[in-house]
Amino acid sequence: MDCLFCKIVAGEIPSKKVYEDDAAYAFLDISPWQKGHTLVIPKRHTADVLEGDDVLAEVGPAVARVGRLLKDRLGADACNVVSNAGSVSGQEVFHTHVHVIPRYADNPGIANMKAEVTADLDEVHQTVVAD
Ligand code: 5GP
Ligand code: ZN
Repeated sequence: MDCLFCKIVAGEIPSKKVYEDDAAYAFLDISPWQKGHTLVIPKRHTADVLEGDDVLAEVGPAVARVGRLLKDRLGADACNVVSNAGSVSGQEVFHTHVHVIPRYADNPGIANMKAEVTADLDEVHQTVVAD
């Protein structure tokens, strides 16, 4: 199957990995809405979180881990946890993904979820994955 995120899971397309467990893989979004914007995806291909009863549960533990990691490492105050399911909702990649979007006190509120981010992706990645 010609799926971008399956290729990322397989390592055929590079990504900035943030976290991984048996069922899920997390990596920085290439076009972040906020500093540290991360996508959590199931390793198994499904189209969206509504496809089956268990899809959201597969990524649930990783979403929680990643949200806490981003708060700890980047000093985020909060996170938006969002999954677009279906093109009308804004979904553009049809492999299930949950956006974990760190939020900072100087730019609060749902209306500001999608902001201009100038932070360097490599620097953010180094900060998030630092030992
Ligand atoms: P959607 O609109 O489907 O909910 O979100 C898809 C997300 O995938 C977008 O935020 C977009 O920036 C991200 N994205 C698309 N292609 C790539 C890619 O090749 N690498 C990474 N890291 N993110 C991608
Ligand atoms: Zn896929």
